[in-house]
Amino acid sequence: MTPGAEASEPRAGEHVPVTPDWTCGSCGDDWPCATKRHHLLHEYEVDRASLSVYLGSCLAAATHDLRAAPVTALQDRFIGWVPRGPRTF
Ligand SMILES: [Zn+2]
Repeated sequence: MTPGAEASEPRAGEHVPVTPDWTCGSCGDDWPCATKRHHLLHEYEVDRASLSVYLGSCLAAATHDLRAAPVTALQDRFIGWVPRGPRTF
């Protein structure tokens, strides 16, 4: 940490979920927001399996926090956006 050398580029630590509502702490959208999804895909580009594990743990916690929300909707929101299969588009 260097005071005064604040990076302007988005950091992985931003757009963190705010529980128990699971909204984005930076932009207020439902988490993971579009920006966070973009970050996650880059962060886990070579390790998609770990991304699934991470999102699965988030989904489990969110399912606990958001009991009123349909599970299928939460699955879609937390995991459904991840591109499946080989990393060839
Ligand atoms: Zn956000």
